[in-house]
Amino acid sequence: MTTVYDCFIVGGGIAGLQAAIQIGRYGHSALVADMDSGRSALCRSYHNVLGWPDGVSGMELRRLGRSQAEKTGVKFVKDEIVKAERVGDLFVLQGRDGAYKARTVLLATGIMDRFPDLPGLVPCLGKTVYVCPDCDGFEIRNRKTLVMGSGDSGAAMALTLSERTDELLFINHERKPIAAELARSLREKGIVVIAEPIREVLEENDGLFQGVMLASGGEIWADRGFIAFGGNEVRSSLAEQLGAERHENGHIMTDARTKMTTVPNLWAAGDIGVHSEQVTIAMGEGSQAAIWMHKTLGRMSKQPAGIGV
Ligand SMILES: Cc1cc2nc3c(=O)[nH]c(=O)nc-3n(C[C@H](O)[C@H](O)[C@H](O)COP(=O)(O)OP(=O)(O)OC[C@H]3O[C@@H](n4cnc5c(N)ncnc54)[C@H](O)[C@@H]3O)c2cc1C
Repeated sequence: MTTVYDCFIVGGGIAGLQAAIQIGRYGHSALVADMDSGRSALCRSYHNVLGWPDGVSGMELRRLGRSQAEKTGVKFVKDEIVKAERVGDLFVLQGRDGAYKARTVLLATGIMDRFPDLPGLVPCLGKTVYVCPDCDGFEIRNRKTLVMGSGDSGAAMALTLSERTDELLFINHERKPIAAELARSLREKGIVVIAEPIREVLEENDGLFQGVMLASGGEIWADRGFIAFGGNEVRSSLAEQLGAERHENGHIMTDARTKMTTVPNLWAAGDIGVHSEQVTIAMGEGSQAAIWMHKTLGRMSKQPAGIGV
């Protein structure tokens, strides 16, 4: 006997949790499967979210979101979903620890930034070292800032950030080539490029960035950092298995109004979609998807929630 859920949400990050809260408030049976990683598990402080002027960590938002969703009856399981298929009118999802069935599915699996395992880096993420110029360009205004990155990705980030501060250095950690046009723009803007691996990030007081120590032992002091190594992982393999259309960069295409993918009764929300990757956008999309999942469930042939098949 396997329970058939009205809604199955893959990913309990920001988009998945906001969707779960909305779905739970309609009274649908819903299960969220999450493998406890993701960008919201990494970021130690979001500074641009309404209501949190002093910042809030991803883990705190996740804790609050899960508790809010659980109060509406939504269930959670720690599992990584590795396979998804359509069997008749249902979705069958295979996790590492179990199998699940549902009438509708929301993919909220997000992306994952690629960065090297540098001592001292993770405690700074979101607090004093950032990934997104739209989110945190504000934080580096007129502050000495190091871009720790790789080739064209790092160069492009440094150029974008040059709107915010004149004190910028780009450390090309992986010493990948930089396209001639980007290199010329860096020179024109006076941005110094150091092509040398970083040995460690210098940080103190649980996340206060101080600079870096290079492989040669030299130290570069700075107030803030950005990372831009390129090659982020787009976690859309389940969408591919189910035949949903994806953008050439792997992000999932959805209907602008409903957030449904090109596969009926399959939705996608959050960073896995094709748009700016931000907390408030993930929240909005999670809610929007849940509203349309609810409308769709109302139209589908009624099979009582939770019966065995
Ligand atoms: C360092 C850093 C700083 C940031 N700063 C800001 C900021 O200041 N402001 C801002 O707006 N945004 C910021 N962001 C971006 C923000 O974190 C994302 O936009 C947001 O987390 C997107 O939410 P999401 O639900 O799409 O993905 P996530 O929060 O990444 O959640 C996805 C979830 O899916 C789960 N998952 C993935 N695949 C599977 C699977 N197969 N089975 C089960 N579970 C799965 C993961 O475990 C994860 O919990 C930052 C990101 C980083 C990394």
